[in-house]
Amino acid sequence: MKFYREPARKLPVVAEVDVLVAGGGPAGFGAALAAAREGAKTMLLESDNCIGGMATAGMMSHWSGNTESPLLDEIYSRQKSSVLLPPPDTEGPGGYTISHEAQKSTLLEMLLEAGVTVQFHTFVAGAVVEDDVVKGVIIESKSGREVILARVVVDATGDGDVAARAGAEFVLGRPEDGQCQPVTLMFRIGNVDWARAVFPGSFETLIDLPKGEIQALGRAHLPFPAGHVLLYRAPLPGEVCVNMTNVTEIDGTDVRDLTRAEIVCRRQMDRIIAFLREFVPGYEKCYAVTCASNVGVRETRHFKALYQLTAEDIVEARLFDDWIATRNFFNFDIHNVKGAGLDEHGVQHKFQAKGKYSIPYRCCVPVRLDGLLLSGRNIDGTHKAHSNFRVMPICLNIGQGVGVAAAIAVKEGIRVRDVDVRKVQQRLEAAGVRP
Ligand SMILES: Cc1cc2nc3c(=O)[nH]c(=O)nc-3n(C[C@H](O)[C@H](O)[C@H](O)COP(=O)(O)OP(=O)(O)OC[C@H]3O[C@@H](n4cnc5c(N)ncnc54)[C@H](O)[C@@H]3O)c2cc1C
Repeated sequence: MKFYREPARKLPVVAEVDVLVAGGGPAGFGAALAAAREGAKTMLLESDNCIGGMATAGMMSHWSGNTESPLLDEIYSRQKSSVLLPPPDTEGPGGYTISHEAQKSTLLEMLLEAGVTVQFHTFVAGAVVEDDVVKGVIIESKSGREVILARVVVDATGDGDVAARAGAEFVLGRPEDGQCQPVTLMFRIGNVDWARAVFPGSFETLIDLPKGEIQALGRAHLPFPAGHVLLYRAPLPGEVCVNMTNVTEIDGTDVRDLTRAEIVCRRQMDRIIAFLREFVPGYEKCYAVTCASNVGVRETRHFKALYQLTAEDIVEARLFDDWIATRNFFNFDIHNVKGAGLDEHGVQHKFQAKGKYSIPYRCCVPVRLDGLLLSGRNIDGTHKAHSNFRVMPICLNIGQGVGVAAAIAVKEGIRVRDVDVRKVQQRLEAAGVRP
């Protein structure tokens, strides 16, 4: 490969903050909000033009699982009064279904109210590291290449871009072969006759239709590696969220792979709509409304932290002494890394656990680097454990705990690894979190 040596240059330091959060998905939102509410001067950087990550820009259907999250309850109770929602008497699915535009506004207003400085259109491109301590980030935007310094940096980019560029140790995907879960471009369709339509919400939802069983029809007629049928009622009448594009063997940290995935997904969209019109009652006249701004990436880097969460921790419903996110519950949602449907190690309907589990603070503290905390799907966990904690309510809970810990480290002028987790827990309990 040829190389070009970029000349060294001075970068302007455009801000200095207590807590800098990179990424505004569920984990970054939770971290920034909690840190600011604890009194830290907090800034959130987001490459997209909205808050919410996969929940909003990624056009997710709903917040999954039976995780308890006072913060998620707060989001939905705040969102209720949004005029962006359909009027209250409109028929809709309810629950934690996502109205993408209303949620973008609600999340943003909550951050601004808490005093977080939000900066969109900003890609975090590097880390400022001195003697194994992360001191800030290098950003790229329309304004050029700039630096923001911080006493604690929270990496909530999903892929762990800051941690990777700072030199933190990680494993990509499954340790045995580096394979990651497939990626999916979410999209919404309209003009579905809800009264007659079906909504298979999992790979294991089998529904007999006039022309055959729905998942079998999907496997027979959709272009490989697409093939499963996952459809969710959206908040707008006649709209449905489609989670059916599917591309395997993609490294979500490689721009060429991401581009290939966007192309494959876009081509699959045509075939999926044609399939729904032909085979699924209620969808005869459906059409595309809009699709996510980016292909959704389920899994990339798993960073090495002071503790690695395991599938056993989840099944045994462990409450760790240093818990920072509690009462989490979901299944082992491992999508097939070779094609459509569920992986052989995944468990959806038959999933069983002894109760709800916690996530220890140690999963968020990188082994070597200081000044840095991990938040969201990039924390330390095995491939299988990750398939569970990657869902949004759990990432939100992790973010909240990490944000409080970051604020305490700043307030006490100590390293993040020296934070007394009992103090974090007291603040979380004051915010309604129960062990
Ligand atoms: C297709 C798909 C379907 C899913 N279905 C569900 C579901 O139904 N229910 C559910 O609860 N969960 C679901 N998940 C899982 C869930 O959406 C994610 O695991 C979760 O959103 C992770 O939260 P996060 O905050 O860690 O990352 P993300 O939500 O990915 O947020 C990361 C944010 O960081 C920003 N960012 C990334 N890199 C940079 C950078 N270098 N600089 C600046 N900003 C950056 C991104 O733009 C994004 O806003 C699904 C995931 C996918 C991909």
